[in-house]
Amino acid sequence: MAFNRDDYVKIKESYDLRRRKAAETADIRKTEICAIIPQMKEICDKLEATGPRIFAAVREGKDGLNEKLAAIRAENEALIEKESALLTSNGYPADWLDIKYECPLCRDEGNIDGRMCSCMRQKLIKAGYESSGISHLCEKMNFDTFSLSYYTGDDRKNMETVYKKVKDYADNFNGEGSGSVLLFGGTGLGKTHLAVAVAKRVVERGFYTVYVTSGTLFNNFRDERFRREGDAESKTAKYSECELLVIDDLGTELPGRDVVAFLYNLMNTRINSGRSTVISTNLSTRDMLERYDDRIVSRIYGEFLAFRFSGKDVRMQKLKEN
Ligand SMILES: [Zn+2]
Repeated sequence: MAFNRDDYVKIKESYDLRRRKAAETADIRKTEICAIIPQMKEICDKLEATGPRIFAAVREGKDGLNEKLAAIRAENEALIEKESALLTSNGYPADWLDIKYECPLCRDEGNIDGRMCSCMRQKLIKAGYESSGISHLCEKMNFDTFSLSYYTGDDRKNMETVYKKVKDYADNFNGEGSGSVLLFGGTGLGKTHLAVAVAKRVVERGFYTVYVTSGTLFNNFRDERFRREGDAESKTAKYSECELLVIDDLGTELPGRDVVAFLYNLMNTRINSGRSTVISTNLSTRDMLERYDDRIVSRIYGEFLAFRFSGKDVRMQKLKEN
């Protein structure tokens, strides 16, 4: 499980900042309150001395340690009670001086005992929808919103299998070694829907995922040719690095010999490093052979699990409904 490295770094930084700010706010409040309520200063100083007192007691040795610690604890509790009473009698909430964490579970550390806290996982998933390129699609296109009612007869049977197997693939995705998937068939049969659904599920499972339409993919590779040393960060590195790459609508890009080379290199890099790719396409095998290189086509057909989409154009059926 890797998530997107940039997302992780950004979120981790925001946690550090939040913790610092929360501590600063509590400090400022304490200074203010101590200036307003004179007895408070003494209580705060005593409370702050608790840590060093425990430390000192431990260093003195095991003899009577438990009693000493119990005494310190009892004193501490009494001080906290006094502090709360002073605060409320002066019109402040009893917890006014506590450090306020957004997540009380992990105290905004992002992890608990070395395990990622659910708050951080949620933030990474949300950031993952964004950075994977599906945030504008995945609300409508996910496994829950895919309806088999648009398919009838043998197509229905076929699509039930396709749906189940593609969903299994996403549910069991485990990064390297999960294999790759080809979704092929005519227009409007739900290929993009299931491709986005896979991306969403894999983001949620914590893997670094990138979704891209074929047109954008190859435009980015074309732009990259003019990139010089020192230019902004590579736009295409993520296509080789991510744990799952979803290329939607292969064959809709502007054709060219360069496309064949880009695709060949990309597929080789990903297959050789055991990274997974999902490709959706309207192209038949013959179209693929005409458009690309037979080395690419044979690698794709050799390495990918292929699913044929069948039925009547779902988009047209939906249009008729409305
Ligand atoms: Zn948390």
